[in-house]
Amino acid sequence: MNTSVQLRSLDQIPVTRLKGVGAALAQKLEKLGLENLQDLLFHLPLRYQDRTRIKPMGELRPGDQVVIQGWVQSCDLVMGRRRSLRCRIKDQSGAVTLRFFHFSAAQKNSLQPGIELRCFGEARVGSNGLEFYHPEYRQVTDQQAPADEESLTPIYPSTEGITQPRIRSLCSQALEILERQGGVTEWLPSSLLQRHQLMSLSQAITYLHQPPVDADLHQLSEERHPAQRRLAFEELLAHHLSLLRLRQQHQKHGAPVMAEHCPLKEQFLQQLPFSLTGAQQRVAVEVSEDLAKPAPMLRLVQGDVGSGKTVVAALATLQAIGNGFQAAVMAPTEILAEQHLLNFSGWLEPLGIKVDWLAGKLKGKKRAEALERMASGESQIIIGTHALFQDDVQFSRLGLVVVDEQHRFGVHQRLALREKGGVDGGLPHQLIMTATPIPRTLTMSVYADLDCSIIDELPAGRTPVNTVLISDQRRDQVVERVRVACSEGRQAYWVCTLIEESEALECQAAEATAEDLTVLLPELRVGLVHGRMKAAEKAEVMAAFKAHELDLLVATTVIEVGVDVPNASLMIIENPERLGLAQLHQLRGRVGRGTVASHCVLMYHAPLSQLGRERLRVMRETNDGFKIAEKDLQIRGPGEVLGTRQTGVMQFRVADLERDADLLVQVKEAAGQMQSLPESTEAIIRRWLGRGESYANV
Ligand code: ADP
Ligand code: MG
Repeated sequence: MNTSVQLRSLDQIPVTRLKGVGAALAQKLEKLGLENLQDLLFHLPLRYQDRTRIKPMGELRPGDQVVIQGWVQSCDLVMGRRRSLRCRIKDQSGAVTLRFFHFSAAQKNSLQPGIELRCFGEARVGSNGLEFYHPEYRQVTDQQAPADEESLTPIYPSTEGITQPRIRSLCSQALEILERQGGVTEWLPSSLLQRHQLMSLSQAITYLHQPPVDADLHQLSEERHPAQRRLAFEELLAHHLSLLRLRQQHQKHGAPVMAEHCPLKEQFLQQLPFSLTGAQQRVAVEVSEDLAKPAPMLRLVQGDVGSGKTVVAALATLQAIGNGFQAAVMAPTEILAEQHLLNFSGWLEPLGIKVDWLAGKLKGKKRAEALERMASGESQIIIGTHALFQDDVQFSRLGLVVVDEQHRFGVHQRLALREKGGVDGGLPHQLIMTATPIPRTLTMSVYADLDCSIIDELPAGRTPVNTVLISDQRRDQVVERVRVACSEGRQAYWVCTLIEESEALECQAAEATAEDLTVLLPELRVGLVHGRMKAAEKAEVMAAFKAHELDLLVATTVIEVGVDVPNASLMIIENPERLGLAQLHQLRGRVGRGTVASHCVLMYHAPLSQLGRERLRVMRETNDGFKIAEKDLQIRGPGEVLGTRQTGVMQFRVADLERDADLLVQVKEAAGQMQSLPESTEAIIRRWLGRGESYANV
């Protein structure tokens, strides 16, 4: 039989074909994403119970889910805070208590001393040794053979109205059909399976639904069993292949060719008050070479806070402009976009370049005029927020799009942007900058469609920030510290954070704090900036702080990005335990930009959780954004780190980027090998990403 017909049949046999599945159950199954037999086969157990052997009571540990067997010694009604039935049973090695809060008279009468019981349940610590609450149990009689289960019992993810026995029966029916059909189609070439010592897909699936008695439960619960790794491998491969395909589709489009040599760049570099670091030079060359090619660039530039990504971006925009194209620079927040506007205007206007601005707040006539200049080609560079995506925005000759802080934009947006542009049917080049260093393993898998450059060097003269943890019970001392620093001519930030994602509340907190500090520190000039202020007001406060007309700036997390005041050498962050490590690192990057030693005080609210303490310790111990990102990844998971949780891109069924990181190198290599097998590639992508893969076609 043709194998692809088999695969078809499995994912085309609806669950309603199975015994006992009517319309009502089918509807419930659909909630779990289970519509056909292939769905069921890939619906893997969450964990397993070992009902295959009887555990001696003397060996039990709290939390064990086990079968025990023993003789009833006593059975009493206990009138505590809650009435309960307490049944003591023992075997040769020890004794435990069974406890029932709901029970019938018949039940009570049947548990007579001397009878033998077999029970299944979870051992927990009780007032008098280990207890089992409401165990499953039955009486053992001499005639009965010791009928234990023959394989481990899978526990499936389920939903209301679908019992475990029900879902177990559906999965085993699906497995029987799988067996009759001779397995699920293997799309990985056997050379690849051998090379990476992978079992076949059918073996892996069968094993995970029905692990044998001697399976290593510990390994399974850690999800490091070869069967799980086999599936994780294929899933990661599917994602990787889909990104590669996306990239290939992208590369088929043309793009404007921009000559590398360009006098504007020379002029710009001459007017800069510093020379580029080696890393900036290297990355600038990589970008410049991409722009000179007739295929659209898709390049990610990573660099720690303060590594000087903006200059590299500016050089790219100059190459576009110098070759007669427009460039757009997009930032995720208005305040960051404003900072870019300041920087780019300062650098580019002296070169005679027309810089324009488009953000959500720009309305009416001003907006219409800006749109007109963009469409006519009068604006050569446009800085803005996601307002640049809007339908009525037209460019005349858009050749380059720079996206800052890419991880906050979804993949959708990244791809939608390219639709905006282009000249003569081609696509604009894209330069994506991220200030959150992305762990290498993630880059390899999540950004397989991008080329990657790393600015791994900070400009000379930066001093590392000294970070300390202080409980907010010592707030007085922290305030004193601000007084001393400012009286010595330095400046400080005081950052307010809130646990809720409410900008309004965060702004209120900042206002209250600013009032407090004004009273406590009457000799200091205290300013306030938060996200709800008008752009002009914010800009005014920022400018005053930069000009040292303010000593202390109270702010919400809006200052995270973009602010650059070298004389500010002290930062207080309230309740740092509420923020992600990457965000803390960003904030802290606002100090340590001058030559004096800088300090960051993380003023936490005691008591910290174990995890909270561990996280803040990372901040104290390192200034290295990559190390912090790795830790963040470990603690919060890739979805949070990349900000892509909602986009669906990072949702894996089996794989886990952290746990399976060691597979990624092999996956990448395998993806290369699969390039010559387009049919298998398609099938694997379809199998694992199925309907969810539509993002690839945005
Ligand atoms: P980030 O990578 O965090 O976006 P920026 O581009 O904002 O960093 O640069 C941070 C600061 O360092 C800016 O004030 C910028 O002008 C300055 N800077 C950039 N490159 C250099 C350099 N090679 N030497 C000295 N200062 C630099
Ligand atoms: Mg930046």
